[in-house]
Amino acid sequence: MAKSPETELPVEAFGWAASDTSGTLAPFHFSRRENGVDDVTLKILFCGVCHSDLHTLKNDWGFTTYPVVPGHEIVGVVTKVGNNVKNFKVGDKVGVGVIVESCKECESCQQDLESYCPRPVFTYNSPYYDGTRTKGGYSNIMVVHQRYVLRFPENLPLDAGAPLLCAGITVYSPMKYYGMTEPGKHLGVAGLGGLGHVAIKLAKAFGLKVTVISSSPNKQAEAIDRLGADSFLVSSDPAKMKVSEIQIQDIKSLKELVSFGFWFLTNLLVLHNAVL
Ligand SMILES: [Zn+2]
Ligand SMILES: [Zn+2]
Repeated sequence: MAKSPETELPVEAFGWAASDTSGTLAPFHFSRRENGVDDVTLKILFCGVCHSDLHTLKNDWGFTTYPVVPGHEIVGVVTKVGNNVKNFKVGDKVGVGVIVESCKECESCQQDLESYCPRPVFTYNSPYYDGTRTKGGYSNIMVVHQRYVLRFPENLPLDAGAPLLCAGITVYSPMKYYGMTEPGKHLGVAGLGGLGHVAIKLAKAFGLKVTVISSSPNKQAEAIDRLGADSFLVSSDPAKMKVSEIQIQDIKSLKELVSFGFWFLTNLLVLHNAVL
């Protein structure tokens, strides 16, 4: 009997897949490619739940191909490496994020900026170069080109560290770009819905002062008492927003800044060396 497209590859895998827009996942048997000379195979131990996973499995963005196995905050232990792999060995703790392949030749790839490659392959719901579709980390095993595998430090817990692979890098990258990793600077975080949580924790670890800007007054206790933010600004309070706007330096409009934050999945942090 001919094999279905989902089981045509040699390595058996098991995961959780959505088969329609209902938002439910069901057990799913599929297959992955054999470990190639440049590949790392990992046994997946934990996978974060990113909001992109939820959007994808419900086809909110209109480009989901079912069945889909979500998950791109993946951590596990290496079980096999190819002959060309020098930086990883069996037993290493590793992570895989949002991208599992790119052209490796364009200017962006040459500069280690693969997310700007015109031919990226995302970790799930993406056509792979061999004609199959990628399956993500809600599964038990993964085969990934070594270039897209990250080493996990020994002192970083795998479960708690998994969200750094998407949510974490999404907020860390602009912080680094804008120099918001130096003690004493003041960070504005627009929205407290996941990425905002990570942004506060990173910022406090770097010694920054943090102001959270949120439309939900009931998040103040979480922001300040639980996560250690220094102040909290309710964006639906025009009077306080006006006062803060006057105090801001270098930012044209706080309203603009906040609406940009809400545009980006409602929980994008916005960073600037501003005095709020
Ligand atoms: Zn994500
Ligand atoms: Zn490229």
